[in-house]
Amino acid sequence: MLKNESKRLVTKAEKLCEQRGVRLTPARREVFEILAAEANAIGAYDLLDKLKTAVPNAKPPTIYRALDFLQEQGFVHKITSSNSYVLCSHFGHQHPVQMLICENCGSVQEIQSDGVYEELYKQAEEQGFLVSTQTIEAHGRCRDCHI
Ligand SMILES: [Zn+2]
Ligand SMILES: [Zn+2]
Repeated sequence: MLKNESKRLVTKAEKLCEQRGVRLTPARREVFEILAAEANAIGAYDLLDKLKTAVPNAKPPTIYRALDFLQEQGFVHKITSSNSYVLCSHFGHQHPVQMLICENCGSVQEIQSDGVYEELYKQAEEQGFLVSTQTIEAHGRCRDCHI
């Protein structure tokens, strides 16, 4: 992500935190900035390595607490199948998530289709199942990799 773009995202996150009365602590902010600079999803331990350059005494719980917070605020999505994290491309509200994950270069693209969500919700309802969150992870090859 471009430098200006990640700055804009940090400012947006700061504003939202202020509105919600929650604190974007230095560690949370730092993790957010690292994710904003990444084009791909990144695992917790790689995040920790990067965080250590800014916060030398950072420990795994530092990262996990920051990630929990960022997920609660809807800033970050967890990709369960690869156990990694990616910044939400349009955070600010909770939404159903569909991820296109490239198996070759690791890029992650977030798409939003209400149609997919509604269909899933409808079919779940028919089974008497109440959906709380929904994340669809599609694996394959991105545009740059399938040539
Ligand atoms: Zn999102
Ligand atoms: Zn790719």
